[in-house]
Amino acid sequence: MKTMIITGASRGIGAATALLAAANGFSVVVNYRNNKAAAEKIVEDIIANGGKAIAVQADIAQEREVIKLFRETDTVFGNLHSLINNAGILEKQMRFEDMDISRFQRIFTANITAQFLCAREAIKRMSLKHGGSGGTIVNVSSIAAKTGAPNEYIDYAASKGAIDSFTIGLSKELADEGIRVNAVRPAFIHTDIHTDGGEPNRIERLKESIPLKRGGLAGEVAEAILWLASEKSSYSTGTFIDVTGGR
Ligand code: NAP
Repeated sequence: MKTMIITGASRGIGAATALLAAANGFSVVVNYRNNKAAAEKIVEDIIANGGKAIAVQADIAQEREVIKLFRETDTVFGNLHSLINNAGILEKQMRFEDMDISRFQRIFTANITAQFLCAREAIKRMSLKHGGSGGTIVNVSSIAAKTGAPNEYIDYAASKGAIDSFTIGLSKELADEGIRVNAVRPAFIHTDIHTDGGEPNRIERLKESIPLKRGGLAGEVAEAILWLASEKSSYSTGTFIDVTGGR
């Protein structure tokens, strides 16, 4: 069985991706930072449906914890085939000049450095150059990379812009080593992240401006992630799927 690591899979888009990946035959590593009970519930659901999964606690903003996450995956499942760089954070909406340096550091470490560290560890295991058998990396960016999120969270948007550049560069660097690198750019998905941004009802406020006139479901993003992670997308690398209801 192929193994998939999904960062931040205790809830939201990561949890939906874990359930779908297991249903599609992956052994799934459900990474989480704090919410052990939620991560274990996802694992229980997968196992109850005949799949394979483990929950692994690791704050991926810390290098030593990323290394622990990958080592535990090696020990329990091996055969790493996919990394879903999903975990990400958002802070309270505010104007740019009101943001302080500790906020920039938290956002950039959690949304950029952590993804870089996870990709580095995945490449060491999956690249043909390192004796691996190839694989896929799917980065979870955001449409904010294109809109810039003015008056809300330009820092977050810029961190996702970095993820887009990272996706393009890494896809070209790894193309002849058996690893494809792609990204999804969601927006307006019903998850808890909007509460962290200080506006739990953000989607309700904006839904009339979305062509499909509704927010999206985590499972709808998971479908795009799974396609990019699977052989079904075998001729796509360095590409992006926007999952935004048309906006
Ligand atoms: P969410 O519901 O807030 O879930 C975030 C997940 O990431 C949780 O499982 C959390 O774990 C985990 N996490 C956060 N920091 C972590 C860290 N340092 N180490 C390990 N795990 C960490 O978020 P979501 O809406 O599903 O978002 C998932 C991804 O989609 C993010 O990259 C986000 O930027 C992106 N996105 C979301 C939307 C949207 O509308 N929802 C739109 C565009 C992009 P704990 O629960 O254990 O803390």
